Amino acid sequence: MSQEVHYCLGGCSREIPFEEVLCPSCEVEYGSEKSAWPKWLIQQRHEELRIRRKDEDNRSTHQCMAGCGKRITYQFAICSSCEQIYGNKIEKWPGWLSFLWRDEMRIRRDTARINQKEVSFSDLDSNLEE
Ligand SMILES: [Zn+2]
Ligand SMILES: [Zn+2]
Repeated sequence: MSQEVHYCLGGCSREIPFEEVLCPSCEVEYGSEKSAWPKWLIQQRHEELRIRRKDEDNRSTHQCMAGCGKRITYQFAICSSCEQIYGNKIEKWPGWLSFLWRDEMRIRRDTARINQKEVSFSDLDSNLEE
């Protein structure tokens, strides 16, 4: 779990865990139900999610999974020089490498699923706007 904190969106400038939106005392004031939040608070939340998504786009590179330390585009498992060693077919890769890549894909799928939940929450909110 990440140790990151951010400011309570209720505007009280308390620091709270990254995954939470409101500090306990603001939650008493606004409630934990997103559907009951005032519009400005929902907008704050939207803005924050938008910025976070942008951050994720900026992190669209990762390290070559063959362990050479090169940074490569997110979509590829290994860099072009490692590809000359291992080839570009996952079926031909050594077990440890295809295991690493499959595991990476699994983590990405889970992350995408979590993000999707947040997206459907925003879609729901946009219905509230007249
Ligand atoms: Zn607060
Ligand atoms: Zn490499």
